[in-house]
Amino acid sequence: MNSPHDDVLIIGGGAIGLATAVALLEAGRSVRILDAATIGGGASHGNCGTITPSHAPPLAAPGVVAQALRWMFTPDAPLYLKPRIDPALWHWLLRFAARCNVRDWRQSTQARAALLNDSRTRLADWAERYRLDCEFEEEGLDYVFRDPRKFQQYVDEAAVLAEFGIATEVFDGAAYEREEPAMLPGVRGAIRFPGDGRLRPDRYVTELVRVVRERGGLIEEHCRVERLETTASGVRLATSQGERKGRDAVIALGAWTPAFTRSLGLKAPIQPGKGYSITYSRPSLVPRHPMVLKDRSVCVTVWDSGFRLGSTMEFSGHDDTLNETRLAALERGASEFLREPVGPDVQERWCGWRPMTWDDLPLLGRAPRYDHVWMAAGHGMLGISMSAATGQFMADLMTGRTPAFDPSPYRPERFA
Ligand SMILES: Cc1cc2nc3c(=O)[nH]c(=O)nc-3n(C[C@H](O)[C@H](O)[C@H](O)COP(=O)(O)OP(=O)(O)OC[C@H]3O[C@@H](n4cnc5c(N)ncnc54)[C@H](O)[C@@H]3O)c2cc1C
Repeated sequence: MNSPHDDVLIIGGGAIGLATAVALLEAGRSVRILDAATIGGGASHGNCGTITPSHAPPLAAPGVVAQALRWMFTPDAPLYLKPRIDPALWHWLLRFAARCNVRDWRQSTQARAALLNDSRTRLADWAERYRLDCEFEEEGLDYVFRDPRKFQQYVDEAAVLAEFGIATEVFDGAAYEREEPAMLPGVRGAIRFPGDGRLRPDRYVTELVRVVRERGGLIEEHCRVERLETTASGVRLATSQGERKGRDAVIALGAWTPAFTRSLGLKAPIQPGKGYSITYSRPSLVPRHPMVLKDRSVCVTVWDSGFRLGSTMEFSGHDDTLNETRLAALERGASEFLREPVGPDVQERWCGWRPMTWDDLPLLGRAPRYDHVWMAAGHGMLGISMSAATGQFMADLMTGRTPAFDPSPYRPERFA
């Protein structure tokens, strides 16, 4: 069953590794995915599943540093930094802080929009072509505000987003409450992004696994890749289940990437940005669109199969403990906005690590100084939204085709 020498070995089986596999298989390459745990069990599992070109603006924006410093002393704040001695984290934070200016904000927004817009269209195409049964809906997404100052600030930003191909519709509070009966009174305004969408991420991943297998791709779970060596004909991997050989390798390890690339002498400044979610059975009165309750940064996603609250960005290293204060903050935030903020049964309480780079752009392309090693990692808050474009982009680069958008902003060399 095992092919002794695959065209491509994909290290990491999250949404990014899987989407890359799908596109490579379509391009006629043989593919094997290796995951240390279960496929899709990392950040790709319990995230909010929103597909959001609207989120093109990066986290590093003018004013964010001051805000983050204030939040450092608030244990349930949406952005939290656990103060500790960690040189890699402080280096990351300094580079991040240096980008909190208008010029870099525009540059990251432009590059993120290119990837997000392509991915949004491609995802709709994949959903149809591969019959992905993952509750994908193109229903837009709303930002909802109770704080009038914050609302105005985002209305101003929405005007700028038009330049990047992102449409918006602005509602005053009364109009929004009329059309969205799930809201409690007190909404001061809302912004709808009609080009956004949503899916159920665990089902998306399961469906990508099906597509990969149907096209002859191989998937090995509980197969930790310990080391990569280059050979005359490509790469050799030492794994917890023995040796695997291939012509090319793609590193798609999300927040685990730096631990792996260090031994290859490759720099991948990715910090784990921890986030939480709670999944419930569906309440009887639910919002008609996915939404972000902006004053509290809580994301609400509704599917036929359930209801999820998710949020928070915590820089606390590779810590996977469930923090009760932060989980409670999700429900508290939702209860300020929604008539039915939680569902009748809790199905899952979860945390995951977003792979955060300081310029909020992923590393996509050939690894510096390696002919047969490629990188597809660091998608931050948007790995599901960016997955289809990333997969196609990587397959195009690896098979010598011209990619759909300019590769230069994502090149791993920018960190070398
Ligand atoms: C609370 C929360 C909400 C989010 N909401 C959204 C959203 O609404 N929309 C959106 O687009 N994005 C969202 N995200 C971000 C998104 O989840 C991530 O960007 C995306 O899942 C990253 O995918 P990945 O494939 O790069 O990494 P992962 O899914 O983390 O996959 C990495 C894989 O590598 C494996 N691995 C690790 N080490 C090894 C090794 N040595 N050998 C082999 N395998 C290994 C792991 O087991 C894991 O399966 C959210 C994230 C969080 C935490």
